[in-house]
Amino acid sequence: MTVYLVGAGPGDPGLLTARALELIAAADVIVYDRLIPESALAGARPGAELRYAGKEGGGPSMPQAQIDRLLVEHGARGRTVVRLKGGDPFVFGRGGEEGEALRAAGIAFEVVPGVTAGIAGPAYAGIPVTHRDAASAVAFITGHEDPAKTESALDWEALAGFPGTLVVYMGVRQLAAITGRLIDGGRPPQQPAAVIERGTLPGQRVLTGTLATIGSLAKSSAVRAPAIAVFGAVAALGERLRWLEERPLAKLTVAVTRARAQASELTARLRGLGAAVLEVPAIKIVPLEGPAPPIEDYDLVCLTSPNGVRLLFERLESSGRDARALAGARVAAIGPGTAAALRNHGVIADVVPERFVAEGLVDALADLPVARALVARAAQARDVLPDALRGRGAQVDVLALYDTVAAPLTEAELDGVADADYVTFTSSSTVRFFFDAAGDRLRERARLLSIGPVTSASLRDRGREPDVEADRHDIDGLVQALLADAKARRE
Ligand code: SAH
Repeated sequence: MTVYLVGAGPGDPGLLTARALELIAAADVIVYDRLIPESALAGARPGAELRYAGKEGGGPSMPQAQIDRLLVEHGARGRTVVRLKGGDPFVFGRGGEEGEALRAAGIAFEVVPGVTAGIAGPAYAGIPVTHRDAASAVAFITGHEDPAKTESALDWEALAGFPGTLVVYMGVRQLAAITGRLIDGGRPPQQPAAVIERGTLPGQRVLTGTLATIGSLAKSSAVRAPAIAVFGAVAALGERLRWLEERPLAKLTVAVTRARAQASELTARLRGLGAAVLEVPAIKIVPLEGPAPPIEDYDLVCLTSPNGVRLLFERLESSGRDARALAGARVAAIGPGTAAALRNHGVIADVVPERFVAEGLVDALADLPVARALVARAAQARDVLPDALRGRGAQVDVLALYDTVAAPLTEAELDGVADADYVTFTSSSTVRFFFDAAGDRLRERARLLSIGPVTSASLRDRGREPDVEADRHDIDGLVQALLADAKARRE
């Protein structure tokens, strides 16, 4: 098989390439470094072996020879190996050495370039590394070595005279020494300079100054690795081109309490709007075993969540059936998310209420004659819908497809809760399990955002008044409510 030397980008999970995600999902073994986005590893298949090769809190990283050996060994065993590295594997990433070791051992490899920190960090600070009027060339430099070293591999005098932008990786510690060498070499002390700490990551920090001042500025501001330094006229453009802080949810931390498997859409939407998203999935969905229902016997089938749709179809498929089993029934979906899940299975819902709660569905079904109905849903749910249908004389079966149960949170997830400016609740069970696990970590300022009246009622049961309730009880409505609240509070 093949060893893939894959760039994971500078930290923002959105900057992973499509090819990287595809290979991560296919890998038997992933050997990864520090600063790899957590969500990247979440895409690994269950059972994949994850090996950490980076530094653990200041300790030594795995020696390069050992990493090379690991890649060769796993590769030789015919496994699909992804060597996941920060940024681009061939830019200060030792990907070249790993490639050589693999070639020497006769193991096939491929390289998947990544978005490198030296371009992405500045870009997230509004600094273009080239610019028609300001820089026609860019040089990537390692600041790892002590520039005072006489046997330095870098010719600092030549770099001082480089006609373009200088981008320095790994230079935090040596910053003052480096800028000193460049000034000694004739680079103007007044030249704009910037340092981007944790570029593209939550908590990105940007400092700007001049070649003469940036070293002491970084020191007094306690800048730490990872950071990128940029020297050149372009470094002054960040003021004008800043965009990161202009996004609607910039500087806000939003906690998402849905089950991990369900969180991705909401998380992606919020991140796209500039929020730092904290996933605190205190709940998970556990499918219940059971036979496929005699679905052909019903004239109404009601679905109350995308999970329900997925699991109903799994049961149908396990008995060799498909969407045609629903051919004789009216199909009702509680909201657009559920309707979309049905559409993915080739079924267009006959009924979707205007209000995406059980009461809304009851109203929407008012005029439909029903003899036998199936309500497919979670084990614990309100009985509003079956009761109402029974009240109209229908024979109703409730099919419990899944349980929602508590999922343990990590210490880091729990600690993060204290930073939350908003906590989003998308169901009563998220309220229940979140407060059980992490309620005591919540700060006073955290605003509680509820998807709709049922979830709000659960918050009130906990003695908490929701600060915001979505008008439309779906993910889109929740995001709109959050945006409106954040905007109102900014003004
Ligand atoms: N192969 C990587 C670079 C590895 S060297 C790439 O192409 O980006 C490690 C250095 O990269 C760090 O010391 C720092 O200078 C830079 N770096 C990596 N991630 C960064 C980030 N998110 N923000 C700022 N600098 C980063």
